[in-house]
Amino acid sequence: MKIQSAVFEVSSPNLELCPRLALPEFAFIGRSNVGKSSLINMLTGKMNLAKVSDLPGKTRLMNFFIINRNWRLVDLPGYGYAHVAKAERADFNEAVADYLRGRENLAGVFVLVDSRHELHAIDLDFISWLAENEIQFAVIFTKIDKLSASQVQSSMTRFKQTALTDLSPVPTIFASSARTKIGRNDILSHVTKMLKFHQYPI
Ligand code: GDP
Repeated sequence: MKIQSAVFEVSSPNLELCPRLALPEFAFIGRSNVGKSSLINMLTGKMNLAKVSDLPGKTRLMNFFIINRNWRLVDLPGYGYAHVAKAERADFNEAVADYLRGRENLAGVFVLVDSRHELHAIDLDFISWLAENEIQFAVIFTKIDKLSASQVQSSMTRFKQTALTDLSPVPTIFASSARTKIGRNDILSHVTKMLKFHQYPI
């Protein structure tokens, strides 16, 4: 897929205020600092589309971008912010849960995981929650430029054995780097495939 346009549409604090349906959506979510903004910028080829911020908790709204005028990329607020008050955290988790469970035009979910780190309990909790709610997803390993090829492989194997064993179908895992652009074509091809699968025009 060639990205011809990527335009910010709106930010929403809850499901009710999300933009009207019509376009299929692909949501991106992960722990704060996982590299989500960098990945979104890399995928869209727009370096400032999602603000890269070192300040955890800065993006706490659901951000909608229209891509090629025929699908939306949705930047969901990350989970696991150390600096956000508990009440506020719950609020946003609730909004994300509502979105993931209730958004009719949701065509795909990408869960981002930092390839360098051991899996965090919060990632496992989130993946279990998706499974319980029968929400299918793919996984994106981020920042693989920091690891050797064999480290990436063993990290992926460990992840499959720990987090994905009981899932059917087993989610696809993509390895990516915002620095080297590895993974870009595979992730965008997956989006194309899902658009076809859901019979949306491409
Ligand atoms: P977000 O909080 O999930 O949106 O994460 P950011 O995109 O802001 O990235 C968090 C930090 O990781 C920043 O310092 C980025 O420069 C760094 N980072 C993000 N992606 C990559 C990557 O692919 N490779 C490397 N080496 N660093 C990355």
